[in-house]
Amino acid sequence: MIPVTKPYLPNREKLNKYIDGIYERNWLTNNGLLVQELTCRLQEYLGVEHLLLVANGTLALQIAYRALGISNCQPGERPEAITTPFTFIATSSSLKWDGVEPVFVDIDPNTWCMDPANIEAAITPETRAIVPVHVFGNACDVEAIGDIARKHDLKLIYDASHAFGVKYKGESLLRYGDAVTLSFHATKLFHTGEGGAIVFKRKEDLERARKMINFGITGPECIEELGINAKMNELQAAMGLCVLDEMDENLKVRADVWLRYEQVLGKTLQLQLKHQSLGYNYAYFPVVFNSEEEAMRVAAALKEHGVQARRYFYPSLESVSCLGAQADPPTSKDVASRILCLPVFDQLAQADQRTIIALIEAELTL
Ligand SMILES: *Cc1c(COP(=O)(O)O)cnc(C)c1O
Repeated sequence: MIPVTKPYLPNREKLNKYIDGIYERNWLTNNGLLVQELTCRLQEYLGVEHLLLVANGTLALQIAYRALGISNCQPGERPEAITTPFTFIATSSSLKWDGVEPVFVDIDPNTWCMDPANIEAAITPETRAIVPVHVFGNACDVEAIGDIARKHDLKLIYDASHAFGVKYKGESLLRYGDAVTLSFHATKLFHTGEGGAIVFKRKEDLERARKMINFGITGPECIEELGINAKMNELQAAMGLCVLDEMDENLKVRADVWLRYEQVLGKTLQLQLKHQSLGYNYAYFPVVFNSEEEAMRVAAALKEHGVQARRYFYPSLESVSCLGAQADPPTSKDVASRILCLPVFDQLAQADQRTIIALIEAELTL
């Protein structure tokens, strides 16, 4: 079976050395040396400040909502956040879980990111935040969305789970927003097994979040505010340090895979339109077919040959009933119905990739 993705496994000896250190120090969690080291190295690698490591990308979102005062509401309040239906469920379910109603606005048909033209009509007196997603590592229209957030005094949190290392206008894309969240799940480009991070614009928000991820405890006998457990541990950080060391090589191999797909499939099928000033990370290869029927035919043909193509992101989230019924966003629904993500990982053999491309071409109704 060729999966749609495979976790990146770094050099084993190096990981063993880090684990030896963990044994020597007998320090497994609570802001250990490796978590501190990974924090510094990620800030440097990504070109950001105020980065906080957490246990996973979903908690990163939840802590960001709390730290920015979006989800902690008084009785009778019913806060809302404007977000996109074309994403992984966690972007919205984390809002709902914390008592914030996700309100969907439709995406742009070419970039598949939230269309800023749809945002203002969705703002109500209850709106507290905008939560866009840099979907598949593409950049949202950060200038237009930033202007709307400022004009209406809304908090802006980007879910950048797919945008590790992505550059925008030559700088980190993570510099836009009051907070930006990352997921370091095993299947993500950079990973710590499970893990995540938040990059805050302001230091005071980082410091509030730092307390929150450790139960609100600030001293041996001091609990300052309501918190939760969202700490990253030393084993996670050890994995991250090893993966980060090999990041550039990993990126190079993935870029080759990505470009081989693009060269052939980009001629006949719709690919995501990347922002002009984007430094892309080649994390996913999503492709939109001419019809849902064609997409399903391709998926079945690939499956028959042991290749897994996944319907990311499907279904469009307005149809997920536990999030609360919403009006249809037609573009998101349409793109979701016709999209497949193809296998991209560092060990994908060129011969296997040629087979995948040939199988797809054979199913296309041109
Ligand atoms: C993976 C992902 C998350 C969730 O991250 P976890 O680390 O798995 O909790 C959230 N949002 C998006 C867009 C993701 O792809």
